[in-house]
Amino acid sequence: MQASDYLNDLFSYIDRSPTAYHAVANSAALLRNHGFNRLREADTWGTLAPGSYYLTRDDSSLIAFTLAHSSQTGAPLRMAGAHTDSPGLKIKPHPVRMRHGCAQIGVEVYGGALLAPWFDRPLSIAGRVSWSGSDGALRCSLIDCQRPLAVIPSLAIHFDREANDKKCINKQTDLMPLVALSPETEPLDFHALLRDELAGRHPEAAQAPILAFDLFLYDAQPLCRVGLHGEFVTGARLDNLLSCHAILQALVQSGADQNRLIILNDHEEVGSLSAVGAQGPFLQSVLERLYPDTGLRQQVISGSLFVSADNGHAVHPNFAAKHDPEHLPQLNSGPVIKTNANQRYATNSLTSALFRRFCAKAGVPCQQFVMRNDLTSGSTIGPLTAAELGVSTVDVGVPQLAMHSIRETIGHLDGWYLLRALAAFFSEEDQDIRCPEAYP
Ligand code: ZN
Repeated sequence: MQASDYLNDLFSYIDRSPTAYHAVANSAALLRNHGFNRLREADTWGTLAPGSYYLTRDDSSLIAFTLAHSSQTGAPLRMAGAHTDSPGLKIKPHPVRMRHGCAQIGVEVYGGALLAPWFDRPLSIAGRVSWSGSDGALRCSLIDCQRPLAVIPSLAIHFDREANDKKCINKQTDLMPLVALSPETEPLDFHALLRDELAGRHPEAAQAPILAFDLFLYDAQPLCRVGLHGEFVTGARLDNLLSCHAILQALVQSGADQNRLIILNDHEEVGSLSAVGAQGPFLQSVLERLYPDTGLRQQVISGSLFVSADNGHAVHPNFAAKHDPEHLPQLNSGPVIKTNANQRYATNSLTSALFRRFCAKAGVPCQQFVMRNDLTSGSTIGPLTAAELGVSTVDVGVPQLAMHSIRETIGHLDGWYLLRALAAFFSEEDQDIRCPEAYP
């Protein structure tokens, strides 16, 4: 991929991935197009031949790897990870409420969403639906309505004169989107709406019972470039689909000369403790199948490096005092290496030094982020993966503004810089990725 193609490809990937399910489906399609073979956890794998493979779990997490040598040689794995989920609004199981001539749908807040930006925006619906086929078999399909279907109107300032000074959002009562005008005697049939969406690709679903769903609202406006010279990109889910995209592209563009593995985890935004999250057993179980011998597996892990990619915070010119004055990452100045003395990030001086060398080899700048002492640092999958496996880890990511807003802002160059640094990590042939010992 050339730099000139990068943003179009990123925009396409994120716009087609309104949920973690869609991100995994699109990632799997990309991997298949590059010759990766699908594995299923339910199958017997045996000893895998050198080649490229991928597998998914619960449709929302994915692991892909290339085996350049026999997996019995103990060669290190170059590993990278990111998360597929983003904070947002998830539709409740019984969502419909009819009130004052309006049909509304109830939502739960998923993760640490910045809620104010969700008001007054065209919203659409996407996710996963379970339904019953005409033969009685359970079916599962992804839907993406791809058109504005809902809006959460603000309360007019005339009813809340303190709205600009003391805005407080009640998550139960203030966030219900409007989806239709309809009298209470004709309640919205939400399942019929889902059947209509399903029927486009599955005609038999037009009459099918809807059994359950995992559906989310999302920003119906696509990503776009902003600024006098187009130097900003604004859009939804940049945290962290930008990193998923960079990791995938770096993997498929690298040759077959190294052992590499990537993991895209769901549920990072809600703490990662799930069957598919970074605190779950997904990665560990795959490594156990690739390296059944415990001693060999530990040998591989001890020589490996895990690059955890998740967006970081750029300095906001309106709020620069929120940052440590000596650590002020700027947009379009390269990925940040994130450190935290209390292990909210897993970076140490050795893994930081290794990542700096990848950036130098790729010819891209990099920056350093540390949170102010009087604010609480965020975290990511890096420390959880490091703790689960005992693998050397570095936490990095592109600097961004408005993290966890429905539309976030980045610089137009930083994703490309991250991709190139990851490609250098994956392609490095002459340098060991092992951390040197201070006491040899
Ligand atoms: Zn993130």
